[in-house]
Amino acid sequence: MRPRKRFGQNFLKDRGVISKIVEVIRPEPSDNMVEIGPGLGALTAPLLETLNRLEVVEIDRDIVEQLKKRFPEERLPIHQADALKFDFSSLGGNLRIVGNLPYNISTPLLFHLSDFSKIIKDMHFMLQKEVVDRMASPPSSPDYGRLSVMLQHQFYIVKCFEVPPHCFYPEPKVDSAIVRMIPLESRQARDEGLFSDVVLAAFSQRRKTLKNTLKTILNQEDFEALEIDPNARAENLSVSDFATIANRLAEKRKQIIDAGLRIVGGR
Ligand code: SAH
Repeated sequence: MRPRKRFGQNFLKDRGVISKIVEVIRPEPSDNMVEIGPGLGALTAPLLETLNRLEVVEIDRDIVEQLKKRFPEERLPIHQADALKFDFSSLGGNLRIVGNLPYNISTPLLFHLSDFSKIIKDMHFMLQKEVVDRMASPPSSPDYGRLSVMLQHQFYIVKCFEVPPHCFYPEPKVDSAIVRMIPLESRQARDEGLFSDVVLAAFSQRRKTLKNTLKTILNQEDFEALEIDPNARAENLSVSDFATIANRLAEKRKQIIDAGLRIVGGR
């Protein structure tokens, strides 16, 4: 089969790396696992050596035909679909998600998957190394940004190991890495939308200070109460800092609404 560029197809060919990936995933026979983009089965086949059953989501019709010929339907239920639109909640709970993902859709896919974090047990992905570095980065580092904060607010993230281009066919132009993501039990910010708005505003101009980027939402008094230096930049704030900002805004909003209701109610 000719690899299709449009579907970001870079097939894994290095046996050593394939076993290493299966090792970090640690499949158990009864796991409820789904693989995104199984391709020609480089990971699928070794995973099925342990798993009773593996669901797959694959967009390419020709690949789906190949997979149907090779694996029995009871062991490999195939969903021919775009993973970006797929309803992962249809697969049941305690879900384990794995995949050597097409790099051109990795960021939107991670955001799509975070909608399902309540039913997810863990995820292991092959991604561009640079993206994994950003996902796992601590504050005050050049890799730390919106992606790090948004994902670390929802997941415990570990970079497992790096994978060089020669392990794939065709060889990608970039280095890759395996990342593990485990949904956190609870999130620090009560209002996810507000949290996301604050992070977006703070990182909208990376070089600017917070008193600049957040001036429409935080005043001097807010900065003091939050014990956040208004001269710091977004990259210096931890995930908890962003969460406390969002929580203070939620509280302020609530007070305004309550006060408004008192006026309307004539009290
Ligand atoms: N896992 C295989 C293939 C990796 S290539 C291996 O490691 O060898 C990426 C795979 O994702 C291809 O099979 C491609 O067809 C599939 N794919 C690309 N875009 C997709 C999408 N939006 N939804 C689901 N699968 C997709």
